[in-house]
Amino acid sequence: AATPSDGPTVFDKIINKEIPSTVVYEDDKVLAFRDIDPQAPTHILIIPKVRDGLTGLSKAEERHCEILGRLLCTAKLVAKQEGLDDGFRIVINDGRDGGQSVYHIHAHLIGGRQMGWPPF
Ligand code: 5GP
Repeated sequence: AATPSDGPTVFDKIINKEIPSTVVYEDDKVLAFRDIDPQAPTHILIIPKVRDGLTGLSKAEERHCEILGRLLCTAKLVAKQEGLDDGFRIVINDGRDGGQSVYHIHAHLIGGRQMGWPPF
């Protein structure tokens, strides 16, 4: 059954360029753009252009393994492009407890300052 988290998200509009975003990397499969509410000097979201049911990591199936790898490889590429030579963090929030707010899977690439741990 469809749930609200299966519906269209703001990322569809970003992919379709219906709302503006600052794109830092794009290819046939993935899009990377700056987060509208950055939590660090560099804060970029990396998303698949086609959601294909992948509302969040907890919904991943075997067919999603390739695109999940692409998200991470793109994060590495963009980190280099952004000059994050001293390190960075990748975050994927999932579901309510994970603090997920947009139900189209995305990796956060965060850097440009010292991160803390634990992350709450
Ligand atoms: P989540 O909380 O689901 O892990 O991350 C969603 C992220 O999307 C948040 O960091 C939020 O700031 C970002 N975001 C939400 N709406 C927009 C938007 O319209 N444009 C951009 N660039 N980022 C957005």
